[in-house]
Amino acid sequence: MSVPTQFAGQAAMQKQDEEAFDLKQYSYTPREFTEEDVVIKVECCGICGSDLHTITCGWMEHKNFPLIVGHEIVGKVVKAGKNTKHQVGDRIGFGAQCGSCMKCENCKNHNENYCVGGMTGTYNGATGSDVQPYTQGGYADYYQGPGHFAVKIPDGIESIVAAPMLCAGVTVFAPLKRYGAGPGKKVGVIGIGGLGHLAIQFANALGAETYAISHSDKKKADAEAMGAKGFVSSGDKESTNSHNSFFDLIICTSYQEGMPLQEVYLPLLKPFGNMVVVGLPNSGVPAGGWALLGKSITGSLIGSPKELEEMFDVAVKHNVKTWVETRPMSEATQAVQDMHHGKARYRYVLTN
Ligand SMILES: [Zn+2]
Ligand SMILES: [Zn+2]
Repeated sequence: MSVPTQFAGQAAMQKQDEEAFDLKQYSYTPREFTEEDVVIKVECCGICGSDLHTITCGWMEHKNFPLIVGHEIVGKVVKAGKNTKHQVGDRIGFGAQCGSCMKCENCKNHNENYCVGGMTGTYNGATGSDVQPYTQGGYADYYQGPGHFAVKIPDGIESIVAAPMLCAGVTVFAPLKRYGAGPGKKVGVIGIGGLGHLAIQFANALGAETYAISHSDKKKADAEAMGAKGFVSSGDKESTNSHNSFFDLIICTSYQEGMPLQEVYLPLLKPFGNMVVVGLPNSGVPAGGWALLGKSITGSLIGSPKELEEMFDVAVKHNVKTWVETRPMSEATQAVQDMHHGKARYRYVLTN
């Protein structure tokens, strides 16, 4: 199969204004191909909140423009290096990580996402190449990356359903597994959005009794359709009081400054329960005092290639499905704008 020498996609040509996103068609020459790499012809790519944060420099200022974002990428292999496990024709997916040192203790123990040298992002990550000094992502026709970080998409799952699992899915699946979501356990999921709607389904799939925790009842019917057994209205004292010391594990998918962590969320945990924050708080998590006694708060960052494989096994076995709305790749700007305005129910996927 022939691979073009230039890849093209929808790029942020400069730092974006979040009220006026403007992505433009842009071509670039991919960095030198190595025997560790694969090239995929992109079928589809999910839109992740990180994409928006990166092109608006919301997390940090950077100069890597023009930049094509997108790290929930599914496509067929059109070129495979000798040292990868993938073959031409395989349908595979890349998530948020496309590099690590491969030598440290974490890399050797299938925790590449916690590499001591830091991880290389699927986009906006340093490549060390003069041809293309930073990685370009999946809002594009082709993507090239190390095969080690790509996983095979099982036959039982559609590409548009699989794509958002590569970041949003594994971000919640990994801590659910790590902190014991399973039979006999009660799991609460704060926030019903891109991450939360997958967290509810995966917690259920792992055998836990799952509850949605949301500030309003607006998404209650959706949460139940996703498999939530119960619903806690975080703004309603009666609702929260009746779930005091109730959960073994809470996954917080929508960390917001000033949210009632001490007053409302921590008391929902049983003694020795864990609360996992999977959003990225800008100014840390304020917690302490009486509310924290006997409770743990921790963070979690995406998932490793091994966890991606485990997640897809569970997804196929238990029919976990991302709720998606597709948009043509050429309409990325509008889709990103709609995502910013919270219109996704619950994930946009761009298709070629
Ligand atoms: Zn992401
Ligand atoms: Zn490492």
